Amino acid sequence: MYDVTVIGGGVVGGLILRKLSSYDLKICLLEKSSDVCMGQSKANSGIVHAGFDAKEGTLKAKFNVLGNKMMQKTAEELGVKYINNGSLVVAFSEYDLKTLEELKIRGEKNGVGGLEIIDGETLKSIEPNISDNAVGALYAKSGGIVCPYELTIAAIGNAMDNGADLKLDFNVVKIEKNGGIFCIFSDNSERVETKIIINCAGIGSEKIANLVGDYSFKIGGRKGEYILLDRESGNFVNHTLFFTPTEKGKGILVSGTVDGNLLLGPTAEEIENDDVSTTSEGLSVIMKKASEMCKNVPFYNTITSFAGVRAYCDKHDFIIEKSKAADNFINCVGIESPGLTSAPAIAEYVAEELVSDMIKLTKKACFNPVRRADCFFRNLSDEEKNAVIEKDRSFGHIVCRCEKVTEGEIIAAVRNNPPALTVDAVKRRTRAGMGRCQGGFCQPSVAEIISRETGIPFDKITKCGKGSELLVGKTK
Ligand SMILES: Cc1cc2nc3c(=O)[nH]c(=O)nc-3n(C[C@H](O)[C@H](O)[C@H](O)COP(=O)(O)OP(=O)(O)OC[C@H]3O[C@@H](n4cnc5c(N)ncnc54)[C@H](O)[C@@H]3O)c2cc1C
Repeated sequence: MYDVTVIGGGVVGGLILRKLSSYDLKICLLEKSSDVCMGQSKANSGIVHAGFDAKEGTLKAKFNVLGNKMMQKTAEELGVKYINNGSLVVAFSEYDLKTLEELKIRGEKNGVGGLEIIDGETLKSIEPNISDNAVGALYAKSGGIVCPYELTIAAIGNAMDNGADLKLDFNVVKIEKNGGIFCIFSDNSERVETKIIINCAGIGSEKIANLVGDYSFKIGGRKGEYILLDRESGNFVNHTLFFTPTEKGKGILVSGTVDGNLLLGPTAEEIENDDVSTTSEGLSVIMKKASEMCKNVPFYNTITSFAGVRAYCDKHDFIIEKSKAADNFINCVGIESPGLTSAPAIAEYVAEELVSDMIKLTKKACFNPVRRADCFFRNLSDEEKNAVIEKDRSFGHIVCRCEKVTEGEIIAAVRNNPPALTVDAVKRRTRAGMGRCQGGFCQPSVAEIISRETGIPFDKITKCGKGSELLVGKTK
């Protein structure tokens, strides 16, 4: 039996699991998909927001500012790329400039340091590709970027290295409580017993709460589409560029990513399900707005488009509290933007303020917060490459030519915590398949390596879980 079970392997559940793994507790993470980080945490802008957007006094404001301050250390410990590139909210009119003043005041009340309003000339000197129509900006020095799935995977891997259990393909469909102990059932009749449950199921969190009789909130879906440009375009902007927010929201952004790509988006469309398809209408809106923000956006370097679904809550703020409907059940729900930024601070609060009220927390003497950074072979010098190949010949075999990913890196992704058991899981850990050809060349080799390493038959290897098998039958 577990002391604490976290439902949902996104960045919030992942960082909570990691924090809990620093205590002497038996803990487990349940995730319905074939890999961790398959919800909102996979497909978002990756912005570490400064904290001037959320209204003062809200949980969003509180955890955003705290999370922003914790992100660099968290990323360093977990070996995850983080860049403090700073953000600019760009004004295109006198009206926008007034809004920037209000945002600055709000940010300062929220505790954001280093906010400054810059004029059009200064803006153009630090962002040469900005539109000629821009008249000024709110500059936030503490804005940053991080890779959201690298962070989530590393947090869960670090928790597992410190003793946490992970159960993939565990779709929670029923929860019973007997004698103070929860019994959690999956849709394929697996079961897990636990004293405490933390609900971090994102878009599925309303259903999970309903299973223990908690009907206190509603979760809806809002889709955001993106366009991603090749790494040749990463230096097109130097900061994350936002439009001045209106009543309709923040609009799309233009930003580099930690891997050197250029990201444009997201749109915002209310949806009934968790559909993550992209549409020609959505992509056209992004292109139009990006062209309003910057001159000569290099759309010809587009390599892919994708979408994520925000789990927004009818309470319009994060809900991070003990459920009033069931003892020892904690909700961390409605965690839409800035949830990625806030996650390290949410994790600390949940462990130290909520779980500690339910069970005695004793620090684990052998807890190691550090996770060795993945070896990205392409970033090594020729000398270092030769030394690595000398030790292990599999690093001398390039599998993904676009991103220069070696067999050795793919084997490590399959063997490390949490194991990469699908082609997309390997892609998120190594970048194999993320380049210009988008996996057209390397996909069969990646599948073969997963099969060889795990013993899963080749025809059962999937792209991203059940129903996405790569092979459907023999042709000869
Ligand atoms: C388009 C978009 C842009 C964003 N941009 C930013 C940004 O730039 N900066 C920022 O700070 N935040 C941003 N966010 C918000 C941020 O991504 C989220 O706040 C954060 O990822 C929420 O993490 P989570 O762990 O709560 O949810 P999720 O990542 O959605 O994880 C929930 C997990 O629960 C699992 N699950 C669901 N139901 C069940 C079940 N029945 N059984 C088992 N498992 C289940 C899911 O498969 C999923 O893996 C953005 C979000 C979106 C969608």
